[in-house]
Amino acid sequence: MKKVFENRQKDALLQSKQDIIQSLASESVEFQEMIHDMEPKDTVDFAADDISRTILETLNSRDRRLLSLIESALGRIENGVYGNCLRCGGHIPEERLEAIPYVLLCINCQNSEERRTR
Ligand SMILES: [Zn+2]
Repeated sequence: MKKVFENRQKDALLQSKQDIIQSLASESVEFQEMIHDMEPKDTVDFAADDISRTILETLNSRDRRLLSLIESALGRIENGVYGNCLRCGGHIPEERLEAIPYVLLCINCQNSEERRTR
C-alpha cells in the first residue's frame, strides 16, 4: 500500500471522526465540557475508549457504528494492514477505499456477508 495513499485515507478518516465528535459536542453538554480545553485538532486524538459510556449512549447507533469502524480503520493503518480484506485477506481496490475509507471487506466478501445476514 502506497504511503501517500495511506496518509490521504488517514486524513479522510480523521476528518470524519472529527465531524462526528463535533456534531456530538453540539448536542451534549457533558461532551462539551470534556473537550472544552482542547484544541480542535486534539479532538481527533480521542480514542473511542476515552469517550465515556454515557456519552456513547447519546450517539445514535449509526454514529456509534461509524466511529468504531473509523477507529478500526485507523488502527489498521497503524498496523500496516489497511486495505486488506478482513475476511479473505485480499487486497481492497483503492477506488473502493476512497469511496468508503473505513471499509473492512472487499466487494466479494461484503456481498456474501449481506447474503448471509439477509
Ligand atoms: Zn474479501
